[in-house]
Formats: sequence, C-alpha cells, structure tokens
Amino acid sequence: MNLPLITHAQAHSEKIAIATKVEAFTYQDLLHTSSQIATVLLNNTEDLQEQRVAFLIPPGFEYVATQWGIWRAGGIAVPLCISHPQPELEYVITNSAALIIIAHPNFETLLRPIAQAQNLRFILTSETLPDDVSRLPEIELTRRALILYTSGTTGKPKGVVTTHHNIQSQVISLVTAWEWTASDRILHILPLHHIHGIINVLTCALWAGAECHMISKFDAETVWNRICEGDLTLFMAVPTIYVKLIAAWEAATPERQQRMSAGCAKMRLMVSGSAALPVQVLEKWQNISGHFLLERYGMTEIGMALSNPLHGERKAGYVGKPLPQVEVRLVDESGELVAPGIPGEIQVKGPGVFLEYWQNPQATAKAFQDGWFCTGDLAVVENDNYRILGRLSVDIIKTGGYKVSALEIEEVLRTHPDIQECAVVGVSDLEWGERVCAALVLQGSQLLTLESFRSWAKERLAIYKVPTRILTVAELPRNAMGKVTKPAVVELFC
Ligand code: AMP
Repeated sequence: MNLPLITHAQAHSEKIAIATKVEAFTYQDLLHTSSQIATVLLNNTEDLQEQRVAFLIPPGFEYVATQWGIWRAGGIAVPLCISHPQPELEYVITNSAALIIIAHPNFETLLRPIAQAQNLRFILTSETLPDDVSRLPEIELTRRALILYTSGTTGKPKGVVTTHHNIQSQVISLVTAWEWTASDRILHILPLHHIHGIINVLTCALWAGAECHMISKFDAETVWNRICEGDLTLFMAVPTIYVKLIAAWEAATPERQQRMSAGCAKMRLMVSGSAALPVQVLEKWQNISGHFLLERYGMTEIGMALSNPLHGERKAGYVGKPLPQVEVRLVDESGELVAPGIPGEIQVKGPGVFLEYWQNPQATAKAFQDGWFCTGDLAVVENDNYRILGRLSVDIIKTGGYKVSALEIEEVLRTHPDIQECAVVGVSDLEWGERVCAALVLQGSQLLTLESFRSWAKERLAIYKVPTRILTVAELPRNAMGKVTKPAVVELFC
C-alpha cells in the first residue's frame, strides 16, 4: 500500500504542487523525482527500515522531493536548519544517529566533514538521478516518519518522533478544520525544520492537492510583492512576521499600500500561531488586510490542538477550542481537572500526538500523565474558549516563534573564556514575543562588547538562540537557597 499522501498526489498529478519565483513543478514531477531519490537512497536494498536521513536543502522543490524520497524509501526524515552553525547541525546528526546525509551543494563544506568523521553516506542534491526507478517498499502508517528537534527544560534539544499516522492525523485535523481544497494556493515563508512550516503549510497543502509557493528566504518586501499578485488564498505566519509585514506596509506609498491590502483581501484565510499574538498586532493587521487573524495553538509534540473557528466568531487573545480528533484538558498541580475559569496545565490526547522522544524513554515517560501529553503551557477556559496564560517553566523562551531553552544557551555561554556565570531569560517584546537576554558575571575585570559576544555565540548557537541584549552584573540575583531567581533577572532588563 502506498502512503495516503502519495495516493492523494497521484489523483492530482497534472496540477502544480510546488512553485518558486522561477519554476513550477507538478504532483507528477514530485512523485517521479521522489521515487528517483528513494532509488538512490535504497542503493539496491529493499527498504531503509527507518534509517535516519538528515538533509539540509533550501526551501523549494528539491527539499520536498527529498523529504518524500526518504519516506518512500522507508527512512525517517531528519530536516536540518539552514541557519544553524556547525555544532548544532552536528548535534542533530549525531543524536539522531543519521546514517545518510543529503546536502544541497551550498552546504557541502559544512556537512561533508561531519559525514567523513562519522563515516556516513553523503549525497549531494546535484548528483544525477537514475532513469530507472526501483520497486519501492510498502510503508505501514505506524512507522516512524520524522524527527524534529525541539528545546525543553533540560539540556540539549530532544528529537520528537512522529509516525506517518501521527502526521496524517495532524494534517487531516487541519485540512478539515480550515477547509483546505485543491483550489488553495499558499505562500510558504516558514522554516522547514519546524512543525509549522512542515506540517501546517507544506504537508496540508500537498495532502489537499493545493499549490505551495515557496520563497528562498523571508524578506518582508518579497512577501508583499507576492501577496500583491493577488492569487494567493492562504497565508500562515508567526506573530513576529506579521509585525515585520506591518512595518513594511506602514513604510510603503499609499498606492502600494492599496495593492498590498487588495492582495490580502483576495485570500480566504490568514493564520497566526507558534507564539502568542498580541491583540495590538491582530488589530493593526485587521486594519491593513481586512482579516481577523485566526489564532491557533500547537506544539511540535502534539501538532495543532486548539484553534479559533474558520467560520463564526474569533476572539482576540484566545486560541479557540480543540481541533477535530484532539482532546484537551486542563489540570492543576496534583493532576486534577480544573473548573472553567481556573488556570491549569494544558494536556493533550489524540492520534496526532507524537510517538516518543528519540532514544529517550525517560523523557517520553515523564512527558505523559495517564496517556495525556503534558504541554507545560498554562491556560484558562472562559466562555468555552481557551486563553493561553504562559508556560510553567521560565526556562522555555519563545522568540520569533522559535522555542529555545535558557538552560541550553547558558551551557554554551559558560564555555566563553570571559564568562564566569550567566543567566538567560526571555524578556517580553512586541516584535519578538520574547527577546533572549543574558545577565553575565565576567571573569576579573574583563570587558565584553555585545558585538564580539554575539559573533562568538553565533558560531555555536542557532541565530535565534543568541542573546540580543547582555548586561554585565557583579553577581546574579539568587534566593536563600542560592538558586538564581529568573524573575529578578528579567527585572534587570526592564
Ligand atoms: P513549538 O513546539 O516550537 O511549536 O512550540 C510550542 C510552544 O509554542 C507551545 O508549547 C506554546 O508555549 C507556544 N505557542 C504555540 N502557539 C501559541 C499561541 N497561539 N499562543 C501562545 N503560545 C503559543
């Protein structure tokens, strides 16, 4: 049996699946190229049997064909992030125990040494694909399909493993709730190593037989130019992107503003998620575009859980109700259900919930309570609508839609020769949601400029994890037990 995603694609074979500024590829192209890539990966074997294949490819047709090729060969796709420095890439490759790396030639110098050092198969996307395609294995839906790395409250990022069935359930839930059809055309501007870009935009579009238009890199003017063409039906982004688009609209001439707004008016739905949408941003966007943004709540481990309605009243500051096939409950510290109006932790159950943290059974077991996944997010139900209140842990920071761990950043900063102690916190910010800020105790009388600190950190951490503000302090605020008091650290930056 083919994966249902593949069967769906066969039904739309002549339609455009992926388009970029210069090229367009049909579903037939995607089916053919992905079967060629699967053939290369199989290398005369019958089935990759869940081998991990890490791949680093810029947004576009090659990325999608590779992801599908891995799935069709029976492998687990491990997407790498194009903006990650070498240590972060190496961590994901090593932790996932990838056996094969596929790279766009732009990333050859970064990745080939890792492949050589670890004796991994290394494939460049520029290699010629075979004309003859192998017989591809049958893939059970219960098989592992994808590992996405996400930060948690302890140590390094964990690999979130989803099966084909999990992914399919996440996709069907969204396709149903937001009424995706083959007539949809979405502009894809989100990172392709994160659930928002991979599932909500790319896979939903391809499941529905819609067109997914990709740009190589986010840039507000490029996005607006594309919107101005007036042929898009859907758009999804994180609040930070809406803030950037608002700024670009405000800076435009009145004539251009009119074209920008007219392009938005042609769409049927605009969605915000991955971080809290400030009501001010929602209101400004409504004035510009005529769209009352649909805000939803989700997480790498569970897919999307809560959403405002496609039809009917959307409430600013709320994330709506459970999506189809998703069960949501709120519990107190002792695991008891809370009454409406009382805050509790969001717990989620359903077929979209992930299988496991990769090779980390303790963390997987700890993340569930009686079969419910514990999100670590706090919410309250008011008039049947969920409102997100924040997170249980101060050490999880959401910046520009990315989830980052303060502890992971601190661990890296402590390896700086001039830093004796540090505390990393998220400080509220309209554009970024939260800004990553670091209070530093330096060795002796050292001086550290923000510029030199950031360029050091960028070589070791993903750009969105690098603190944008630093403050040198004589000592960190601590409680009677000697533990750093993070709220007091936040105060230092306010
Ligand atoms: P990620 O796994 O990177 O998608 O991050 C998931 C986390 O993002 C959740 O656990 C929440 O803390 C946060 N999040 C996602 N959507 C929203 C939202 N609409 N409002 C507030 N926080 C959100």
